[in-house]
Amino acid sequence: MIDPIEILPGKCIVCLRRGSLQHYAGYFAWLNASICATCTVRQAEPLSLVLLWAKAKGGPEACKLPASSWVSYVAPDYIGWPKICALYPEAIESMLDILVSELGPEITQCFEKPVKIIKL
Ligand SMILES: [Zn+2]
Repeated sequence: MIDPIEILPGKCIVCLRRGSLQHYAGYFAWLNASICATCTVRQAEPLSLVLLWAKAKGGPEACKLPASSWVSYVAPDYIGWPKICALYPEAIESMLDILVSELGPEITQCFEKPVKIIKL
């Protein structure tokens, strides 16, 4: 089996800082990524992934559980769920624009209706 490629090697997946890192084990623990001690203590999640996850689930309103207690990072500070929701409309559109330009318009089909995630 091939080891999954680490996302952002040498950097914290949440705040992108370098330094003392450990294996990320947050909500998206299937990611092979690292997280710094500060983000670990804050239990922070990576913003871009939170936004895409919210889009796939049908938008922030559909995600209050479990996300309403989540924290993320936008330089220079940590932000809570209300601020994540406030950023969502503009941020998700620019992220989708990037995905479409990189991967083609088919990628938007992933977000046309909430994706049902099956846990094994
Ligand atoms: Zn960090």
